[in-house]
Amino acid sequence: MTVSGRYPKLIIDLKKLRHNVEKVREMCLDRGIELAGVVKGCTGLAECAGEFEKAGCRFIASSRIEQLEHLKEAGIKTPLMMIRTPMISEAEEVVKVAELSLNSEVETLRSLDRYAGKLGKRHKVILMADLGDLREGFWDTGELEKAALTVEGDLCNLELAGIGTNLGCYGAIAATEEKLAELVETAEKIEKALGRRLEFISGGATSALPRVIEGNIPDRINLLRIGEGILLARDLQELWGYDMSFMHRDVFSLQAEVIEVKDKPTYPVGEIMFDAFGNKPVYEDRGIRKRALLALGKVDYAFPEELVPRQKGIKVLGASSDHTILDVEEMETPPSVGDILEFDLRYATIVYLTNSESIEKVYIRK
Ligand SMILES: *Cc1c(COP(=O)(O)O)cnc(C)c1O
Repeated sequence: MTVSGRYPKLIIDLKKLRHNVEKVREMCLDRGIELAGVVKGCTGLAECAGEFEKAGCRFIASSRIEQLEHLKEAGIKTPLMMIRTPMISEAEEVVKVAELSLNSEVETLRSLDRYAGKLGKRHKVILMADLGDLREGFWDTGELEKAALTVEGDLCNLELAGIGTNLGCYGAIAATEEKLAELVETAEKIEKALGRRLEFISGGATSALPRVIEGNIPDRINLLRIGEGILLARDLQELWGYDMSFMHRDVFSLQAEVIEVKDKPTYPVGEIMFDAFGNKPVYEDRGIRKRALLALGKVDYAFPEELVPRQKGIKVLGASSDHTILDVEEMETPPSVGDILEFDLRYATIVYLTNSESIEKVYIRK
């Protein structure tokens, strides 16, 4: 690979990303479901959000208000959705920047309402029901219904746009047909209390896509919020066993530079105490082997085990803050100092790498 410019680089293929957004959007539209494209997995990079916009997402969503703020400044016109229950301290920002937010506390809703009034805006809210994943959302359906009536009756600057849920995040609970039917049932109960239909029933994240693929998602679910299934598209293939070969799983690639290549022992020499992070690790003695160091580390991607070498014969042994240690003994042609090695990534490593100032982002546009 020819070396040019600054390293490490994160290569982002916008064409492949666009393809992925379009495929997921088509899949959803076939079932009458609109798409909120979730960009928190790539730190809300405006170039990436631009592809979500061009593909026609109904919303662009993030859990971080500063990412949405940045997108608005960058000229994104698609309505923005705040998908983490807002902090009261950011309520004004949320109303300013986002058309819609997901909510689970009446106190916060009151605050959003106050700022919406002050700013002369109408802010849409989806109330979240916790169906067992045990992260955000009303646990008690009675309390949810009461909150819905409060929004409808008292908080005149808010518009109750729908009911939603999130599954497969904390509690790792599957978005089964039964769970989603439960969500629809809850939403219909609220509709009955309000005496009108809700605009959205939002059945979850990538973990709900299996229901779309299998065609057994309840009819009334009409909004999904998808991040991983577009950005990386690994989970459905590798965890759930669906054939997702029509999706690109290499939108993001990491390129890092080799700064040392030497034959060294595999077992540290001396009294083993603590590593750079205060852990007492265990090492296997495999004799003297060829190893390479890369000029990036845990600060940049957090999890060395989530770097997947593209070339055969490389094993990631570990990392400290700023160094990654590779076993390259099995490579046909071992790397030289100054060479660039390329890696596939996992969700968490993409989150960190897109967030790191030390990483040069390079976009492939055609
Ligand atoms: C992160 C998040 C999503 C998107 O999750 P993916 O698994 O990346 O599709 C959707 N909804 C909420 C509330 C989230 O926090």
